[in-house]
Amino acid sequence: MVSCNFKAIEKKWQKKWEQEKVFEADVQKKGKKFYVMEMFPYPSALGLHLGHTLNYTIGDILARFKRMRGFNVLYPMGFDALGLPAENAAIKAGAHPKTYTAQAIKNYIKQMKNLGLSYDWSKLVNSMEPEYYKWNQLFFLKFLERGLAYRKKAAVNWCPKCNTVLANEQVVKGCCWRHENTEVEIKHLEQWFLKITNYADELLDCIDDLQWPQKIKIMQKNWIGKSYGTEIDFEVNGKKFPVFTTRPDTIYGVTFMVISAQHEKLMELVTKEQKKDVEKFLKKIKSVSEKDAVDLEKEGVFTGSYASNPATNEKVPIWVGNFVVADYGSGMVMAVPAHDQRDFDFAKKYGLNIKEVISGGDIKKNAYTSDGKLINSEKFNGLPSEKAKEEIAKFLEKKNLGRKAIQFKMRDWLISRQRYWGTPIPVIYCDKCKIVPVPEKDLPIKLPEKVTFGKGNPLATNEKFVNVKCPNCRGGARRETDTMDTFVDSSWYFMRYPDNKNSEKPFDKKIEEYWLPVDQYIGGIEHATMHLLYSRFWTKALRDLGYVNYDEPFTRLFNQGMLHGEDREKMSKSKGNVILPEVVSEKYGIDTARFFLMSLAAPDKPRDWSDKGVQGSLKFINKIMNYFDEVKIGKSNRKTESKLNKTIKEVSEQIENFQYNLATIKLRELFNSFGEEESKDVLEKSLKLLHPFCPHITEELWEKIGNKTLITSEKWPICDEKKIDEKFEKQEQAVEKLKSDIEQIKKLTGKQNPKVYVYVLPNEKGFYSEVKSIKIFAVNDKKKYDPENKSKKAKPNRPSIFIE
Ligand SMILES: [Zn+2]
Ligand SMILES: [Zn+2]
Repeated sequence: MVSCNFKAIEKKWQKKWEQEKVFEADVQKKGKKFYVMEMFPYPSALGLHLGHTLNYTIGDILARFKRMRGFNVLYPMGFDALGLPAENAAIKAGAHPKTYTAQAIKNYIKQMKNLGLSYDWSKLVNSMEPEYYKWNQLFFLKFLERGLAYRKKAAVNWCPKCNTVLANEQVVKGCCWRHENTEVEIKHLEQWFLKITNYADELLDCIDDLQWPQKIKIMQKNWIGKSYGTEIDFEVNGKKFPVFTTRPDTIYGVTFMVISAQHEKLMELVTKEQKKDVEKFLKKIKSVSEKDAVDLEKEGVFTGSYASNPATNEKVPIWVGNFVVADYGSGMVMAVPAHDQRDFDFAKKYGLNIKEVISGGDIKKNAYTSDGKLINSEKFNGLPSEKAKEEIAKFLEKKNLGRKAIQFKMRDWLISRQRYWGTPIPVIYCDKCKIVPVPEKDLPIKLPEKVTFGKGNPLATNEKFVNVKCPNCRGGARRETDTMDTFVDSSWYFMRYPDNKNSEKPFDKKIEEYWLPVDQYIGGIEHATMHLLYSRFWTKALRDLGYVNYDEPFTRLFNQGMLHGEDREKMSKSKGNVILPEVVSEKYGIDTARFFLMSLAAPDKPRDWSDKGVQGSLKFINKIMNYFDEVKIGKSNRKTESKLNKTIKEVSEQIENFQYNLATIKLRELFNSFGEEESKDVLEKSLKLLHPFCPHITEELWEKIGNKTLITSEKWPICDEKKIDEKFEKQEQAVEKLKSDIEQIKKLTGKQNPKVYVYVLPNEKGFYSEVKSIKIFAVNDKKKYDPENKSKKAKPNRPSIFIE
């Protein structure tokens, strides 16, 4: 049932908006600014699905609302165009990643325009353009100068499917974040890192001030993972091995040590006798990050070496285990099986000693992890745990065998990728001069077009790219062939939008000062410990380099809820339940789809698409369209004026607070309350309220009632409190209540087509008369039909009901 030609209406207004450049932000303008954006997508040939529509409509409604409220709004869009998915898809499709991605972007832009999204396309940022990634390279050089970028050999996570290393953040339960069934392998490689750990404290301290969802804040806090403890020196083969612990009070209960399977110096500890066992073990285990280590089946094997406990001078065996992270502390932990469940399980499994040093538990069954009094701990016996922690730390410190220490779980950010479709790292290796930064004047180092895929690192296959002269000594040298993790691109793209065409600098300082930080950022929770953490780090690093003058990039963050398919499952190509916005637009019009998506649930809650459900929204939209065909423009009564002003007040607050679903209810009620005749003012204001949700049809109707301007550039209506008549509002609530009570009673009695009698106070008879198919009596009506004497129960605004 499509009674309107929605498509023609949509095209007409999209063209007008574009012609009149109504969504272009004035970067030079003064006054109140509002910077709102969604996370930019990576363009795939699959195009946008309805989940994107939901996400972007949330931002679009806010952007349109703020513009009408008089803000200078910047609402840009861009493309996270570099990266592995594009490279892989291109190879599969036999196309060059550049051609493939450019095509996908073209399609995305077309789709986004069809959705009626009010982006300022003149601010487009596309990370595959050398004009963009040039600045990644510049920032990298600045970081290098400052010691924020460095190269080191490290045990790194390698995904055999991606054919590249991954950052710790990209390893999920021992598998690749892109390939959930592909176990990550460990390789020891020379790689580039960014020193995000320099900012660990600040990244942690600033979290509380952010207006972000609590869940994300907690995830970041846990990821950064600050803990206070003691570093204790154990002696291994005559060398000191500092080991971090938060429980120095259990030092006398250490019965073995566990070294990480990824430890650089592991093989130095493995004796001849144990070599075979250890090698066999290493082959079968996966890589772990700290957050995965918790749910992992603990496994290990003896190295053949021993460590000496500085408190007791006892020798304890060193095992290699799969649950110790290589670069947490020194990559070795002390095991206290009596007081740590993980160590307890491990000791039981391999028949290792368990020594109780804190009283209070029953260590035959489980580790006792609470506090208690020390036992079996020589001169510290009898001390409570908390006190013992201090005393033992002091004792070790005095003997120079330990010291107070702070430990973070977060590691430095590994940014080298052995792949093609990323920003080339601007570094040259010379035998004489070692690592030589590319001079700034030679930027950008562009990606060469011609490379061979599938034979190791693609950039290494282009001789002309690789073989260069050393900028320092002019001798023969080699260019770095790794590219940057594409999370570098997304770490600062929001700074580039306002000044996206600047060819002299990443951005102009004045423009940046006006627009940044982003007032409202919208995106998925899956970026909690990657993009959202990296961007915070980047902002702080650029601040210290003098590029920006704020501490945090995103003042407010909103996580949208997931849109599920008709089958209540997450939309995915393999399940065949992906809904395309084109199909929905064709059937119902995009305004109907937008209105329906927003009415389903609060924007941060999950929701299911339903073809049946959308019919309700379509009926509503059609009803409005038909209403404006027939309405007599004249005067509105006091009741409608009251309702309108109340709705202005409520909808304004609801949009501001992301309660879009509540706003759609209020908008329905408003339009449904209209009579045959209404004033132009009432109709205009109502259309303005509906505009952010249904931008196309409201433009059409705005024109239809005689306006020459664009509604999208109009001022948002202001609530006239004087016109709100609380008596009307209360009456209306009472009528709604009566209707639902009657429905309830009908359901309970189970009667088909019952007769309904309602008894009301005499002065209320008038306004209840709009309730259909009931018989109303005033309680003092002598001729009323009232066999059960229900009329006695009626109270002000609370009629009583009789059904037979
Ligand atoms: Zn992978
Ligand atoms: Zn040189």
